[in-house]
Amino acid sequence: MANPKFQSPKGVKDIFSPESEVRRKVLDIFAKQARLAGYGEIVLPLFEDIGVFSRVGESTEIVQKQMYDFQDKDNRQMALRPESTASVMRAFIQHRPVTPWKCWYEGAHFRYEKPQAGRFRQFHQVGVEVLGTNDPAADTEVISLAAKFFQEIGCGVEIVLNSLGGVESRANYLETLRDYLTARNNELSAQAQKTLSLNPLRVLDSKVEGDAAIISEAPEMKLSADDQKHFDDVKEKLESLNIAYTLNKRLVRGLDYYTRTAFEFIATNLDSSQDAVGGGGRYDGLSELLGGPKCAGVGFAIGIDRTLLALEETQKISTNTLDVFIAYVGAQTEAIQMATELRQAEISTEFSFDNRSLKAQMKLADKSGAKVALILGEDEMKQNSVSVIELRKASNQSLVPQKDLKAHLLKLLNA
Ligand code: AMP
Repeated sequence: MANPKFQSPKGVKDIFSPESEVRRKVLDIFAKQARLAGYGEIVLPLFEDIGVFSRVGESTEIVQKQMYDFQDKDNRQMALRPESTASVMRAFIQHRPVTPWKCWYEGAHFRYEKPQAGRFRQFHQVGVEVLGTNDPAADTEVISLAAKFFQEIGCGVEIVLNSLGGVESRANYLETLRDYLTARNNELSAQAQKTLSLNPLRVLDSKVEGDAAIISEAPEMKLSADDQKHFDDVKEKLESLNIAYTLNKRLVRGLDYYTRTAFEFIATNLDSSQDAVGGGGRYDGLSELLGGPKCAGVGFAIGIDRTLLALEETQKISTNTLDVFIAYVGAQTEAIQMATELRQAEISTEFSFDNRSLKAQMKLADKSGAKVALILGEDEMKQNSVSVIELRKASNQSLVPQKDLKAHLLKLLNA
């Protein structure tokens, strides 16, 4: 239809197969890596009391401009989640699982952003959080988990690392940075001037070209001895695992609650405007911000839509999953029964609807990407057999008794 009455909302996608197949595979690989490292899945609500998010990012665009907020029918102020770390922390404070507590999540997130390549209003994230430990080994574990995930799916990433200092070093640095930026306020872009009044640290994140020189001359954070030791430990442990990283003292994160370790995963084959496929860090003050007990935490979120864009560039994941296509003449019931039996043996099987001609069905079989076509025609039915055709090979038709079909197919498909 050229101009349908309803279309998906701006900045939101419908995902069809085979793209959805690649996406599912990528999500499964993430879940497997998280489980292998001892993380349990947490399934969170898609919306929360708006305070859960606004408390943790007052000076950020995410909270100021991008929140899908609404009033429910009982006049509660709610928001669709723009990220999940705050929700995980809210759930932790509410239910108090035993620490150290390790969880992973996946799901849709919502931000009212200007849609463009790799930037959507609904996007999918996977992530992990470790709560209740200061151990640098936890920082290393989450970074190595993400690195392993990207390696498994064949997505080249660069890991960029920084330390934002603990609560105290961060506070001292904020003052130094505010003084420096205020002195050069007139040279900053209008956007950066506004950011400066909210949070000087976030000016370092400015993408406006004219701000680059001022940012490059900004004073650097001085870490306390404890923070430096923590950071050195993280780096040392990454090196012991042969995980390469680059340091970037200007790396800050989008939300206010990060302390100490901060990192980003940059896809090596995407444009710089959309090459951040994930990021995370330590957030030792977040629990208290939400009214909880003192509780250290570290984690990351990876954007699946962007990761898939990076994979599209390299075409690394094959999506063909269909094993068998059954074509039939006057034997639809038998075809349905056969498909059911083969599916039970975990052989993926399809047949066509609408009693089409054999020729039309064979065309469909070819298009389906199936490895094998089966023909159930009159002759085959008379002989309790089925014709088996290997679609990617020449001269390959054989007649197989129906009772031997499953074993025959398993042998063919596993060859
Ligand atoms: P953040 O929660 O902002 O640290 O984002 C983590 C990751 O989620 C980013 O590196 C992106 O890959 C992805 N992401 C964030 N916002 C969007 C968006 N609007 N559209 C698509 N992906 C996004």
